This record gives sequence, structure tokens and C-alpha cells, in this order.
Amino acid sequence: MLPAHRFGLARLPPPSSFRFSSTVAQPPPRRLFHRTRLVVRYTGYLALSSVFGVLVIGAGIFVHDALTYTEKHVDRVPVSPLALHPERGGPKNLPVVRVQVDDEQDEENVKLAEKPRLVIVGGGWGAMGILKTLHVGDYHVTVVSSETFTTFTPLLPSAAVGTVQIRSLIEPIRKIIARLRGHFVQGKAVDLDMKERLLEVETMTPDGKTANVYIPYDKLVIAVGSTSSTHGVPGLENCFQLKTIADAQSIRRRIMERKRLLSFVVCGGGPTGVETAAEIDDFCQEDIMNYFPKICREEVSIHVIQSREHILNTYSEAISQYAEKKFNRSGVNLITSARVSGVTNDSVTYTTKENGKTVKHSIPTNFVLWSTGIAMNPFTQRVSDLLPNQVHKKAIVVDAHLRVKGAPLGEVYCIGDSSTIETSVVSHFMELVDEADKDKNGKIDFDEWKFMVERIKSRIPMAEDHLTEVRAIFDLYDKDKDNNLSLNELLPLLQDVEKHLTSLPATAQVASQEGKYIGRKLHKLARKSAVAQLNNAPSPKDEDVSKPFRYLHLGSLAYIGNAAVFDFGGHSFMGGLAAMYAWRSVYWNEQVSARTRGLLMIDWIIRGVWGRDLSRL
Ligand SMILES: Cc1cc2nc3c(=O)[nH]c(=O)nc-3n(C[C@H](O)[C@H](O)[C@H](O)COP(=O)(O)OP(=O)(O)OC[C@H]3O[C@@H](n4cnc5c(N)ncnc54)[C@H](O)[C@@H]3O)c2cc1C
Repeated sequence: MLPAHRFGLARLPPPSSFRFSSTVAQPPPRRLFHRTRLVVRYTGYLALSSVFGVLVIGAGIFVHDALTYTEKHVDRVPVSPLALHPERGGPKNLPVVRVQVDDEQDEENVKLAEKPRLVIVGGGWGAMGILKTLHVGDYHVTVVSSETFTTFTPLLPSAAVGTVQIRSLIEPIRKIIARLRGHFVQGKAVDLDMKERLLEVETMTPDGKTANVYIPYDKLVIAVGSTSSTHGVPGLENCFQLKTIADAQSIRRRIMERKRLLSFVVCGGGPTGVETAAEIDDFCQEDIMNYFPKICREEVSIHVIQSREHILNTYSEAISQYAEKKFNRSGVNLITSARVSGVTNDSVTYTTKENGKTVKHSIPTNFVLWSTGIAMNPFTQRVSDLLPNQVHKKAIVVDAHLRVKGAPLGEVYCIGDSSTIETSVVSHFMELVDEADKDKNGKIDFDEWKFMVERIKSRIPMAEDHLTEVRAIFDLYDKDKDNNLSLNELLPLLQDVEKHLTSLPATAQVASQEGKYIGRKLHKLARKSAVAQLNNAPSPKDEDVSKPFRYLHLGSLAYIGNAAVFDFGGHSFMGGLAAMYAWRSVYWNEQVSARTRGLLMIDWIIRGVWGRDLSRL
């Protein structure tokens, strides 16, 4: 027989004590009843308070809603006759809108009408940056924009396939400028007279005709964005663009056409092209499979044509490779090192180099998205043509204070995609030498070189990173070791510094930071000018109130189809759903209003529960 302890029975109490202990462990029936009553009571309290909470919140919403239906009687609002019938003037003898209809509607507006006139052209990222940082009462603000709303461009690819609704990406400009008691003019800026400080705007009359007017300004900020560059490829009228809400709507309509679902071609492997291809792929994988006949999925193909060796080539190599692998797994056809040579209404032709020979290929398609970089908007082109020193092909050149080069100083600024900060050091060569060569011996000694470095940094802040080792650079270019830089030694030095300078990218991040910089600076200028006026002192200059603009790169991100990539300069982060939620959080946080935040959240929940909106509106 096996010993009892092998079964763990050796320490069991005798049967009598066993019975006794089991009796002690059981709560008496009264206590059990008491406890049950407590649990039931608190559960009841919880349920009642939840119901009460829901009722209170519901009633609150209801009462708030009821209170919003107020009838405001506005009798005899004063309006200047000049606002209704502006006087004509300017070089083209057009109506000059010196007074807005609401300038005299109350005391605050009357006071604001006396302030310097700030006119902002455009209602995108750059303009929003200014409007966020300006203070009420600084200026009489007017925003001129061709659209009545501002658009959250990074989510346009999502809107194009119905992942989020169009209305979740837009916020009316009037709501945003209300804080500043600003004015909004819907119209297209077409010309500028910098001598008389008049902006020519093409507006619509109530009967649907176009009419041009002048809007006078004391300070003008151009923030009109860009258009797509064509690279001289014929047939681009057959392509879709993805720059505006209207573009996203027309793409959406085409994608939802069942009979046309065939092949999608995206020309351009940058972030916009990649994100759009990823969204179309998500749509095919998730929604076509569920709601369209299965055969459609087989018919659909997605192609990305990229001129470089890799897609997302401005991101780190690891990110490019990750995105390429992800696309390959999803069956997206990546065609790299290829150039699109033409687009027709049913095909795209492109060329590749094979064994040194150019080979032509063609893809039958009736959906082509053109996303291959930016070009000048017509208004930007017009301003550039007005200024002989503006020779840049893609944007207006501004100085480190974002003032348009060649325009009257401190009157015209340009930000965002429509501008580029000057990077030319060599063009200032003689000026720099003149300033630094204190003893006028035609050579730059080390102290003079240190002074010159400071001058370069203040003119072109982007050069700072390339001018840290001041002594080492001096010694490197002082070929004859006479402890001086002759002009022949200095010129190659500055040329080499210039070679390393690159323009800032055309991104929302840059436009927004530039807008905020201008808003803060204009606020300081307004305050200091008011004090100077009281003291009969000269008006302050930009340099007196603010340092040159410095861009702070916070990282780049891109959506690549249920996955996302983040590039923080030296560090990259990429992954599946976790990264995608991080990507969503960043964009959610960047929204211009709480309203669009709420709408976006609802859209993402709806997509998860019911799928994308497949209606073709
Ligand atoms: C699909 C897409 C995705 C993008 N994703 C990202 C991203 O993820 N991250 C990022 O950093 N950047 C992104 N960008 C780039 C970013 O949107 C731009 O760099 C940014 O919008 C530039 O801001 P802006 O103020 O210069 O111009 P915009 O934001 O383009 O605004 C221009 C404004 O000017 C108005 N306008 C144009 N012409 C006139 C005229 N003649 N008169 C009056 N008004 C005019 C327009 O109506 C618009 O309101 C994306 C761009 C696109 C198209």
C-alpha cells in the first residue's frame, strides 16, 4: 500500500475537524443575504446614476440645441455707402474696396477699420498659421481665397476613396477669422500693383458674372500654394490631380463607377502618390471584396510609376524598402526608374532603360493620378514676372524674414508652397566682403571671417549648420597659409557652402511654421509701430522685432495601407496597425477645429463598423 503522504493526504485533518472547518468557511445565511442586498443596492445606484447621467447630458444637449434657435433682430445696421458702391481707382480704374460692409456695424469694427490693413491671399496651411498667431486688434484683416474653406490636405487620399468624409477635412474660413473680427472675400487674386499697394481680385457678382476689384493693403501675405508640375508630358488633361477637395470628389466619383473599375495608375512615388495608391488598395482589399462581385477584385490592378529607383525616396532607405515590401505583398505593381512619356484617355505610356536602350511600355487604364511635384500657381507666376530679380521657376524667392525679394521692404511676404527661401550665398559675395573687410585691404582675416559668418547666418539661416567649424573652414580654404582669405580663396569657400544648402520642402509643416512665424512677427510689429507712432519715432523694421525664420523639422510620416512610416531625421519608425494608429493620432491632433476632430473620429469608427461609403454622389 502506498503511504498516505504521497497523495498529500498525510496532513489532512481528521474527519470530524474537516467537517467543522467547512462549517466555519460558509457565511451564515443572514450575512449572505446582507451581502447580496448590498450588491443589488449598489448595482441599482450605479444603474440609476447612469440613467440619470444620460438623461442630464441628453437634456443638456437638447436645451443647448433649443437655445441656438434664437431670433436676432438687427435693425438699421450702419453701412458705409462706400462699401456698397466703392470708388474706382488704381491703374485699371477698378472699384477699390477700401471699406467692407461690416466695418461700421459696431464700435469694435469701427476701431479696427483704423488699423493697418493686412491682406492674406490664400486659405490653406500658411494662412491658418498666421490666423492662429495674430492677436485681435492688431490689424484690419482680410482673407482673400478662391475657396470658402480651409482643407486638411494630408487626408485628401483618404477622402478620395471614402475612408473619411469630405466634410471632415474642411473648416469654413469665416469661422476661423471670426476670432480676429476679420473679413473674408471669396475670389481669385490675379494681379498686384506694389506701387499703389492694390491687390486685384476676380470675384463673382450675385448674377454669376465675374468682376474684378482692387483690395488695398498695408501688408500683404501671399500664401496661394502651388499647382502640379507637368514636366512637359502630353495628355495630362486625361489625368486626375489631388490638390483640392474638388479633385478628391472627382476621383471618388470615378472610383465608385463599377463599370470602369479596371486599373489605377499613379504617376509619382512621393508621399501623395504612395498614400493614394495605398488607400485605393485598402478600398479594393476591404470593400470591393465585400460589396462588389468578386470578379471585380481580379480585374483591379494598381500601378505606381516612379522616376527614381525607390518610392518615398526623400525618406530613409529603411522606410523606402519597408514600403516597397508592403506594396509587393499587397500586389501593387511598383515600376521604378521609369519616365511617363504620355497619357491618353485609355492608356499611360512610360519608358525604362534596359541595357542602355530606351524601352517603351504601355498600361491600359482610365484612371491616372498625376502627382509628380509642384509648379507655380498663376498668381505666383504673375508676381514673379513683376519683379525682375525673381528668376526661380517654381516659387517666389523670399529672404530670411520671408519678405518677397525685390518688393518694397516689409510690405509683401510670401509663405508656404508659393515661396522658397533664398539659398544663394555667392550672389551676396561683394556685399559680404564689403561689410566684413573692416581694414579695406581686400583680404579677410580670421576676425573678419567670424564677422562674415554671422552676416551669412543672419541672411541665410539654413547655412548655419554648414558653418559651425569656423576656424577649420578658414584654415582649409587659406591655401597659402597667410592667415587671410584672398577673394580667390573666399569664392570657392562660399560656393561650397551654397552647394550644401537645399530649399525647404513644400509641405504643410513648413507652410504652417512660416505662417505662425509671420503671425507672431506681425503682432510684434503692430505693437511696436503703435508705440513708435505715439513717440513720433520711425516704424520698426522686421529685423527690430524678430530673428530670421528657422524651420524645425518635426519628422515626416506617410500612410502605406494599414501601416505607416515615420521618419524623424536620424530615426525611423514603421509598422502595421500600431503605426497606423499613431499616424491617425498625429493628424487628429493637427486638426484645425474640434468639429473636424469629432467628425474624423466618427468617420474612422464608421469605416471600422460599416466599411467605406460606397455611394457615388
Ligand atoms: C494630397 C496631398 C497630401 C499632402 N500630405 C502632406 C502631409 O502629409 N504632410 C505635409 O507636411 N504636407 C502634405 N502635403 C503638402 C501640403 O498640403 C502643402 O505643402 C501645403 O498645403 C502648403 O500650404 P500653403 O498654405 O502654401 O498652400 P495651400 O494649403 O495649398 O493653400 C493655398 C490656398 O490658396 C488658395 N488660392 C490659390 N490660388 C489663389 C488665388 N489666385 N487667389 C486666392 N486664393 C488662392 C487656395 O484656395 C487655398 O486656400 C500634401 C499635399 C497634398 C496635395
